[in-house]
Parts: sequence; structure tokens; C-alpha cells
Amino acid sequence: MAEKEKDLKEITEDTNQFKCVVQKALLFLNEFIDGPMCARCLPCPMGSYEMRIRFQKLSNAEANAGDLDAIRRLAPFMLESSMCKKGKDTAKFIIDTLEKTPEVYDIHVAGGCPDRECKGSIQYKVIPDKCVSCDECRVVCKDYAILGEKQVAYIAGFLPYEIVDMRCSRCGECVKVCRYGAIEIVDKKAMETVTV
Ligand code: SF4
Ligand code: SF4
Ligand code: SF4
Repeated sequence: MAEKEKDLKEITEDTNQFKCVVQKALLFLNEFIDGPMCARCLPCPMGSYEMRIRFQKLSNAEANAGDLDAIRRLAPFMLESSMCKKGKDTAKFIIDTLEKTPEVYDIHVAGGCPDRECKGSIQYKVIPDKCVSCDECRVVCKDYAILGEKQVAYIAGFLPYEIVDMRCSRCGECVKVCRYGAIEIVDKKAMETVTV
């Protein structure tokens, strides 16, 4: 049986899984485009697809001031010109985030994410002083992003554990299994250690 299409209320509820407004907006646009958006009028799909590209850039820490300006232009245009309430409500959702937290958008343009939810802004790191080389993180990493060798008693010279950033998809599984708090999320820009 085909899955029931989500309405905007359900999509809004889904966005509660995130704290970051960029992640909320990106999820909203993704689910709107995949679901209730019918593409019967032009401003709504045009605005949705174009804004999604800009939000993906914000999430990847690849956006510039022009991307933010484009979102600020597109959302009111979509609100005004969309033919039905679904398109207008989607535009309103984006406009609300722009109005309530403009400073958070500016931080994203500078490559940061105050909530550490945008994958492009963060990095996972092994803290050598805390790591006991138990190997549990390497086993759960589906991206083969963790290198290192399990410590065996009375034998020296093991490869220390480290995370290869290029391979890491930021799934967070390694942090969950490390019982020694030896994996931390680091702000890529400021390289500040943050609590997880
Ligand atoms: S505004 Fe409404 S009618 Fe137009 S494309 Fe969006 S969902 Fe369809
Ligand atoms: S799970 Fe933690 S302690 Fe064990 S190897 Fe990985 S980082 Fe080190
Ligand atoms: S966050 Fe996920 S992909 Fe990255 S190192 Fe940890 S387990 Fe591997």
C-alpha cells in the first residue's frame, strides 16, 4: 500500500527533530518537494527548488552572502505568487526563521552552526589522551572513516585511532559507542571542542 503523503502540519512536526533553523528549513523544503508540492503553478516549485539549493549550501558550510540574499528574495516572492495555501505556508515557514534568527543565518554564511547540526561545520575527532584503543568505534563506522589498531596486552606499537574527515558522513554512531568519551565534535572553523 502506498505511503500516505505528509501534510504541512506533519512536515512542521518533523522539523522539531532539529534545533538548527537551517536544518529545519532544509527538511521542510525536502519533504514539501517530495510530498504535497504539485508543481501546478511556477513560483512555488521554482522558489522551493532554488531555496533548497541555497539551504544545502548553508548546511555544507559552502554558502556566501549571495545565497542568503537569494533566500530572502525568493521566500517573499513565493509567498506572494504561489497559487495555493501549501506554497504560501511553506514560504511563511522560511520567512519566520529568517525573521526570528537572522544572526544564525549570518553565522552559517561564515561557515558555522551554533547548534552543531550542519555537517559542513563540524568534524569528529578522537582525543588521544582519552582513547584506550578498544576498537569499538571502528567496528560501527559504516564509512570506514576510522583508522587504528586494537590494543593487545603486553604488545606495543599499535596504530593510534583517528578519524579521516573526508570519509566521515557525520552519522554520530562512533560517539554513541565510545564509553570513554574519547570522540568529540569539533567546530571546523573555530576548532572549539563542544559537548555532545
Ligand atoms: S503553490 Fe500550490 S498549486 Fe502551486 S505548485 Fe505549490 S502546491 Fe501546487
Ligand atoms: S571507541 Fe573510543 S576509546 Fe575505543 S578506540 Fe574508539 S575512540 Fe578509542
Ligand atoms: S561520525 Fe559516523 S562516519 Fe564519522 S567516524 Fe563516526 S561512525 Fe564513522
